[in-house]
Amino acid sequence: MIHQEIWDTAKASLKKDIPSHAFNTWIVPIRPVAFSDNKLLLEVPNQFFFEWLDTHYKEIIEKKVVDKKGKRLKIDYTISAETKRIKNEADDEVYKPKHLERPPAFINKNQRFSNFIEGSNNQFAKAAAASIAKNPGASNYNPLVIYGGVGLGKTHLLHAIGNLVMSNEKKRRVVLETSERFTQEFINSIQKNITEDFTKKYRKADVLLIDDIQFFKGKEQTQEQFFHTFNELHQLNKQIVLSADTYPGDMEGLQERLVSRFQSGLSVDIQPPDFETRVAILLEKAQQNGLELSYDLVELIATHIKTNIRVLEGIIIRLLANSSLYGKEIDRELVEKVIREKLGNEMVLELSIEDVVKKVSEIRSIPMKVLIGPSRRREIVKTRHLAMYLCRELTNNTLTSVGLFFGGRDHTTVLHACSQVEKVYKKKKAVSKFISQISKDMSVANF
Ligand code: ADP
Ligand code: MG
Repeated sequence: MIHQEIWDTAKASLKKDIPSHAFNTWIVPIRPVAFSDNKLLLEVPNQFFFEWLDTHYKEIIEKKVVDKKGKRLKIDYTISAETKRIKNEADDEVYKPKHLERPPAFINKNQRFSNFIEGSNNQFAKAAAASIAKNPGASNYNPLVIYGGVGLGKTHLLHAIGNLVMSNEKKRRVVLETSERFTQEFINSIQKNITEDFTKKYRKADVLLIDDIQFFKGKEQTQEQFFHTFNELHQLNKQIVLSADTYPGDMEGLQERLVSRFQSGLSVDIQPPDFETRVAILLEKAQQNGLELSYDLVELIATHIKTNIRVLEGIIIRLLANSSLYGKEIDRELVEKVIREKLGNEMVLELSIEDVVKKVSEIRSIPMKVLIGPSRRREIVKTRHLAMYLCRELTNNTLTSVGLFFGGRDHTTVLHACSQVEKVYKKKKAVSKFISQISKDMSVANF
């Protein structure tokens, strides 16, 4: 229990130095898990939390984590899920392959049926998942395939099934992995000549949940292996649950016989949430995080963020950070800013210069060739400046690359264009409207 003592001491001291709302948000959730080699291992709830801690509280925490003589100790962080894995490994109930590189599956305890918000978009998937979780292997829903786009709750449902099965009967062996992990472990087991371990882990499962099976695409050997695993479990009436980004019948790069197995049970889809469901999800997540949000602000977020639930969650977390850390009031202005940031971040990841220029060329009905060409016609030059500016705003490219795209112009030309837009063009309402409209359009198109 020495890790607990060290942390308690540090915590007491941190409490004096950090404002109480921030202390409650960023320090209280940290859990000490181990102390060895003069290193204290601290568990944090998620990646975002870790990054926040790392940028804002790293130094002060380092200062406070000391031994009895006041000498600083080293600190290591772990994200909650990782810790669960380590714990699972030590847990006798769970089968423990000795040689596989990483410990067996973990189930995220926070993803349950009880906090999965139901809407017309996911009702059927949730009902099917809950039904097989209550009686794994007992129905014709074997395999159950849950498919749909990114961030819509497929992984959440897989974990919810795992949690429910385990809480109903601890002895049930639940194996939950992504198809990538399955592949890695398979390759690893061949290289190290320990295929027996691999086989044991997967073929001894009572409930096998494999996330994102689309990544089996093109991996013939792995598919072969999975085919056998599948058949063996299926014959023993063990429950199999799979998630995928498309309907199994539409999946390319998978062996025909696998596809036909996948279609032999029940396939259910999850659609993007409708407006009401988005509102419900936001209200629930806000409440879970102790964040007070008025209804019209919830509506504002739900209107802008249309499909990805992960992004909805991200917004709540940002708002929480802003309010707890800087004591900012959560008003319309702040919510708008956070939405813009979120939309902006997505765009930086996704959009290319060409996307942006193409869009401008479409809207202004000026061919792309002309836009990036040498023409000095007033209207064209203006639009070109706008396009350059938008490229800088919406993509992650340098002035030089933008210039190159525009027929090999110098980076100073791009810089000049940007400052023209900022200083002159934007004064006109129509132009600033055009800019915000295009930014919005492009971000929505990307979700
Ligand atoms: P997917 O696997 O389909 O890409 P996830 O299951 O990872 O999506 O979901 C993304 C995030 O949104 C997760 O944090 C998840 O808990 C949350 N989420 C998704 N659907 C719901 C829902 N219906 N109710 C509450 N939270 C949800
Ligand atoms: Mg997923």
